Amino acid sequence: APRTVAIVGRPNVGKSRLFNRLARKRISIVHDMPGVTRDVITAEVEDGGYTLLDTGGLGLTGSDTPARITKASEAQVGFAIEAASVILFVIDAREGVTGLDERIAQLLRKSRKHVLLVANKADRGQEKLADISEFYRLGFGEPFYISAEHGNGEAEVRNAVLEKL
Ligand code: GDP
Ligand code: MG
Repeated sequence: APRTVAIVGRPNVGKSRLFNRLARKRISIVHDMPGVTRDVITAEVEDGGYTLLDTGGLGLTGSDTPARITKASEAQVGFAIEAASVILFVIDAREGVTGLDERIAQLLRKSRKHVLLVANKADRGQEKLADISEFYRLGFGEPFYISAEHGNGEAEVRNAVLEKL
């Protein structure tokens, strides 16, 4: 749908933290839709006037196996590609690119959607970040380094989203 932005990425990279930040309001609505969309959380973002989707859930539980996590992550990317015009692909700036990140990237590259690569957990200070060349190799250009926890880089991501809408 037009003016719909989806946040995708493997578990634990900070998608929901970013969602809450961009949505500003903490309240979000869980849309009861059939199938894989059941766990998608949406918010109406007033500045910019778009719908933001947090695709994180998709049936994952605490005791999930790597195979199920991969499957659920791929399902969320499929859903985001269908539902959104702009996709925020979140990775972990410290851990670098994992096998699951690469699989997600492959699916996203095949779509015709605008993809913004967001390297999260770049808090300020001492933490060691993965080599930027890993991020470039995903094929989405320069990453936006952010800290969803502290807010660094948030304004740049907001502006980039508005430009792509
Ligand atoms: P999701 O599974 O991708 O939705 O990730 P969450 O938003 O639930 O975050 C996973 C974990 O990473 C939580 O413990 C967050 O507090 C933490 N986290 C999220 N963003 C940041 C960040 O920018 N910096 C740091 N240090 N931790 C973060
Ligand atoms: Mg989440």
